[in-house]
Formats: sequence, structure tokens, C-alpha cells
Amino acid sequence: MPTTCVVGILWGDEGKGKVIDYLAAEADFVVRYGGGHNAGHTLILPSGKLVLHLIPSGIVHPHTRNVIGNGVVVDPLHLCTEIDTLRARGLAVEPGGNLLISERAHVILDAHRRQDHWAEGVRRGGRLGTTGRGIGPAYSDRCSRIGLRLGDLLRPDHLRRAVQGLAEQKNAWFAPVGLEPIDVEAAVAQLLAAGDRLRAGIVDCGAVLRRAHAQGQRILLEGAQGCLLDLEHGTYPFVTSSHASTGGAFSGTGLPPHAMRVVGIAKAYATRVGEGPFPTELREATGDRLREAGREYGSTTGRPRRCGWFDTVAVRYAGAVSGAGELVLTNLDVLRGFAPLRLAVAYRLADGTRTTEFPAFDLDAAVPEFEDLPGFTEDVREVRRFDDLPPAARAYVQAIERHTGLPIRTISVGPGRDQIILR
Ligand code: GDP
Repeated sequence: MPTTCVVGILWGDEGKGKVIDYLAAEADFVVRYGGGHNAGHTLILPSGKLVLHLIPSGIVHPHTRNVIGNGVVVDPLHLCTEIDTLRARGLAVEPGGNLLISERAHVILDAHRRQDHWAEGVRRGGRLGTTGRGIGPAYSDRCSRIGLRLGDLLRPDHLRRAVQGLAEQKNAWFAPVGLEPIDVEAAVAQLLAAGDRLRAGIVDCGAVLRRAHAQGQRILLEGAQGCLLDLEHGTYPFVTSSHASTGGAFSGTGLPPHAMRVVGIAKAYATRVGEGPFPTELREATGDRLREAGREYGSTTGRPRRCGWFDTVAVRYAGAVSGAGELVLTNLDVLRGFAPLRLAVAYRLADGTRTTEFPAFDLDAAVPEFEDLPGFTEDVREVRRFDDLPPAARAYVQAIERHTGLPIRTISVGPGRDQIILR
């Protein structure tokens, strides 16, 4: 396995957790490169369901080292809680052993969470639908060069000065808008305590990964969210505040951009949680049926996901931006009983022009043009060979390949680890 990057192709929740869990069985390192604990990867293990928010999915494999890269923003208190939760489930989680955290990763403070909630309430042009966990404000402070890094937690004098500096900047405007100011001493005490617990794991992860890569070790990069939520390439402003697409895999780890295989994960239909344009959204009964059939509720927030038809325009664009060489198609089982199966193959824009390019503006006015295909009624959850799928399901997969230009070699037909078809 060369260094492999797994990216969500649309707006997240594509089932990356399951695919990464599957690939992690062969990996020496599993690495998160962006986002924070707003992500939620669901694994269905023999012992039951496990949702991971910050810790990479390789944690369930005893031989795998898990890395939280420098592109991730880390709430140290949440990280300690997640470690405790996993340990309570019987998993070994050892900072410095099977868990490494980049000393360059930025810190999310309580103050960032308060700021996030406040900003969501007053945002110009309406809510973004963030998870309110302080991710965006922590990234903003990183850009403003006033953020704290995990390595600061191991340097008490430096940490106190850094928190003081941050508090001076933030408290100046927190108080006037009614936000609780930062209590420097309380924040420092909390951060030092978390730093003590994580100490052995806070290292120069870029150096560790570059060495591992040079030695031919198997590295799996775990994308969070999806390409169309990427700060640069997504449906701005309804995007996340990190580089969720493949570009973030380089800047967010310190690994060089060569010799990387990119695997794009897409559901057999489309979903989006929160606000923002979604051309193939089904706003009527079929959308509700799809939501129930696919149990489309957020794994972090429980929010109902918006559901719609597969969009080959969006997937082709995201595939190109991410450099994906192939697609893994998940949730094919969910489409049982839906007919026809519709694929968006072009958009009609507000001015009447037809396009197969994904537009940067006015996406909410784009009307998809569909190709309709026959549905299938058979249960495919126990199918393990492509040739054993119903002809309509095979034709549907092949139509997606044709319209996106991406080969599909792996198809997931259920949440379980073994519910997978390899072609
Ligand atoms: P992620 O954020 O991309 O990892 O996606 P999530 O884990 O939030 O959501 C995927 C959901 O779909 C989880 O509940 C998975 O257990 C489930 N899942 C993954 N693959 C399949 C599949 O092929 N079929 C079905 N029915 N569910 C799946």
C-alpha cells in the first residue's frame, strides 16, 4: 500500500470511517490532517458501534500508530475525554505509543467555542450551520498569528504569555458584545493539566511521518468532512474552515506531495448537513424516504441530513480538485426499492445556459438535468461479487463511472466491516 489519502467527495458523511477502518488493517500509520472534533467517523465493530471525533480510526487496530497532524485543531480537554471514552470501551490509547499529536497543531479553547456560538447567531447572510465547537475561531486565530499550539502546553512560561496575549486581543471585544472574557489563570491551569496528560504524545509528527514514508511504511491519511466543504474549493461560504480536500493532506501533515494514491469516497446518493446550496436535493417524500432508508442523521450532532440524487457534475469536479484516481461507492444497499434512480449529469443555470462544470456562484439557482436509470428491488447487503449484483445496480454503478470518469473498484453494501464488494 503506497501512502493513501482517503477524501470525502461531497459534503462529508460519505462513510469514510468504514473505508478507513477497512484500509487501516494494512496501515502502519493512520493520520488525520484537518478539521477538529466536529468530524465524526462511525465504525461498526464486532463489539458494537463506535464514533470517533478526533482520534484517527486506526486506533481500533493494535498495530497501528495514530497521528493527529498539524492541520488539525485540537481541543485538549475533548481529546482527554475521547481517550477516556475509548479506554472505557477496552481500547488501548497511549500518547507517545499508539497516539501522536503534532506539536504544531493549534489549540481550541473554551473561548473559541463561545465565540463560535456568538458568531453563528449574528452571522451576516444567515447561519452556516457550524457544529459550534470552536473550530472556525481557532483556525481564524491561527491565520491571525495569535493562536496557541499544542507544543505550548509543555512550556508553562511561554504558555502564560501566549494566553495573556490572546486574552488581550479577544477580551477587548468579547466584553462589549456580552461574551464571557478569557480568565487567563484558569485557562493556563486547564491547558497545563491537559498538557501533562498528553505530554508523551506531543511531538514533531511531520518528522515522524517523513521518516516513515522514506522507510516505505504504510501511511493512511484520513480526510475529514469533504471536498465540497473545502475552504478553497467548496461551496463558499457554506464550507468548513480547513482544507478538507487533498491539498490539506500535505500542508496538514508535513508529508511531501509525491507518491500519494487518492481515493475518493462517495455515497450512491448525495447528502448534506447544515446550510448551503445542494442542486440535487429532494425536498419531498422521496428525500424523507432516502433519509430513513439510509439513517441519515449526523453522527456528531444528530441533525437530519438533507438527501438527494447522485450528482456527477459535483463528483467530477471534486474528483478533479482532489486528484482522486478512483471512487469508493458506499450505501448502495440504501437505494433498494427506489425507481427510477436519477443521476444529475448537467446543470441549467439561472441565465438558461447548460453546463457540466461546477459553478463558483449561484449554485442554488442551478437546476440539474437528470439521466434516469431503472431501480432494483433485491437486497444487496449479502452480495460480495460485482457480478452477483442485480443488473440494474451494476448498470447504475457503471453509469456513475462513465459520467465521472472515475473507476469504482470498491462498493460498500452495508455498515459492517465485511459488507464490501471488491471488483
Ligand atoms: P464519515 O464521516 O464519512 O465517516 O461518515 P459517517 O460515519 O458519519 O456516516 C456513515 C454512516 O453510514 C455510518 O453510520 C456508517 O455505519 C454507515 N455506512 C457506511 N457504509 C455504509 C453502507 O455501505 N451502507 C449502509 N447502509 N450504511 C453504511
